[in-house]
Amino acid sequence: MENYIVSARKYRPSTFRSVVGQQSLTTTLKNAIRNNKLAHAYLFCGPRGVGKTTCARIFAKTINCLTPNEDGEACNTCESCVSFNEQRSYNIHELDAASNNSVDDIRSLIEQVRIPPQTGKYKVYIIDEVHMLSPAAFNAFLKTLEEPPRYAVFILATTEKHKILPTILSRCQIYDFNRIGINDTVEYLEYVASQEHVSFEKEALSVIAQKADGGMRDALSIFDQVVSFTGGNITYQSVIENLNVLDYEYYFKLTGNFLQNKVSACLLIFNEILGKGFEGQHFVGGLTSFFRDLLVCKDPETIVLYEVGDAVKSKYQTVAQACDVNFLYKAIELSNECDLTYRASRNKRLLVELLLIRLCRLMNPQSTEDDKKKTLDPIVPDDPETNTIQTVPSQVVTTPVQTPVVPVQDSNTPSGGTVDLEILKSANSASKPRSGLSGAPVSVSLKETQSKKEEKKTEEKSIVGSTNAELPRNSFTRNDLIEKWNLYAGNIKEKIHLKNTMLNISPDLKNGEIISVSVYNPEQAQKLQEESTALVEFLRRELKNAYLVMEVDITEQENTQIAYMETDKYKLFVSKNPQLQQLVNEFRLRLD
Ligand SMILES: [Zn+2]
Repeated sequence: MENYIVSARKYRPSTFRSVVGQQSLTTTLKNAIRNNKLAHAYLFCGPRGVGKTTCARIFAKTINCLTPNEDGEACNTCESCVSFNEQRSYNIHELDAASNNSVDDIRSLIEQVRIPPQTGKYKVYIIDEVHMLSPAAFNAFLKTLEEPPRYAVFILATTEKHKILPTILSRCQIYDFNRIGINDTVEYLEYVASQEHVSFEKEALSVIAQKADGGMRDALSIFDQVVSFTGGNITYQSVIENLNVLDYEYYFKLTGNFLQNKVSACLLIFNEILGKGFEGQHFVGGLTSFFRDLLVCKDPETIVLYEVGDAVKSKYQTVAQACDVNFLYKAIELSNECDLTYRASRNKRLLVELLLIRLCRLMNPQSTEDDKKKTLDPIVPDDPETNTIQTVPSQVVTTPVQTPVVPVQDSNTPSGGTVDLEILKSANSASKPRSGLSGAPVSVSLKETQSKKEEKKTEEKSIVGSTNAELPRNSFTRNDLIEKWNLYAGNIKEKIHLKNTMLNISPDLKNGEIISVSVYNPEQAQKLQEESTALVEFLRRELKNAYLVMEVDITEQENTQIAYMETDKYKLFVSKNPQLQQLVNEFRLRLD
């Protein structure tokens, strides 16, 4: 183990040519050296680990080389080069401004600048993280930078260019280092792996490169880490497991389900992802990038923007071809929106699930057609009242969906499709002047009834008869009520307070038709009252009972209004079900 050298050090480039991913920049530097047009100060900017310090060192070595080759590279054999390579040259000084940022540090550097080189032509001063210098140190340095001795070259490096004073910027030649492309990184990792006799799958190296995010130093240290835990056999599976990377297969699977409108399958996949310990936001972020990648793969002109191995790329291309471009635009928009609101959301899981539901509803060739047809379907008013009573503010009920799109229900669509249908119904009916609210008959055109019948056989019985003047009075259970209640709440988009209130309480059912809701404070009660028209209308329609009413009352609670803490929740459960206490006592359970 004592001979082990980390790859980032072992494979640090020693010539400009071997620097990865900064070709135009190194060429410029080489040309400047060859033409003897050296500046006194350079500023190297760019993210960490992309080769700024490495290039500075190569630069210092090259301008001091006694016998540079024609290409403008250091020979690596002369006395000067050897002393550089063995890190014993006196012509290079490195100051890490992150830890030495005081005026005194700069003064001692300035002292050194005064002493001319004993051997070689130039003394090179590399100041790393130069933006960390204190303002006083900057000022002390400025003078030297203005009138440096002939033999002195300063190379300032920074990850944060915007923090450098204009007075410094104006005195430097500025070089912007790029993030290193994934293909370049992968190629270099392949080289290192072959040197180290490590076997690998290209996809695995690609994951490492993505994780390193353009930094070669990071890529190499992740590489070392992976080599050590895989025992020198780097596979895609081992890499994603050990680096905690979400397998892109999940995204492929999900996309397949989005396209087929399979909500349940998507929810289950998401559940599996959470079960593997991934954060919801991590997932959403990944999904957003995935859609973006699909989009760039769709167009041969933009495919260069997607950097991965060819095998993966062709997989992306295939899936991208299956996706409508509008689907991708919308999908990126929706998932990005979810990503942005994620942190503020109180029910994060639901937020992501809602995203999945929406994505499922996006892509559906027949949806728009069907939807139009349904919306335009004449509703025969059986009761003259139907035309006059239009108390439903359409906006309120449309909140569950952005654009009402009718999902195609294939016969094997699992229950998840049902959720969709519910949302759809509410959206549709909101756009129609329908008056279930007032207890007037819910008119359903025969056509619509039939198509619904195919889709949802279980809930048909009451609706069929309702074409007559008779009001629907379906009986239902409290669980049915809670299900619809939560459906409504889950689809509230803007009224977050109301949404949370609704999700935090479960309504009771009295005498089969009275929805009894207890809230903890007047504010919540008011929010519910405000929503009651639309809410009751929705519940009447969904539960097929025009006689539903809602009661809201405020229950006094001492201090904690909502059971946030585990102990509070426990007390709440016990108060609802005293047998729980007995269970706890008998088994001597303890709540930590
Ligand atoms: Zn040399």
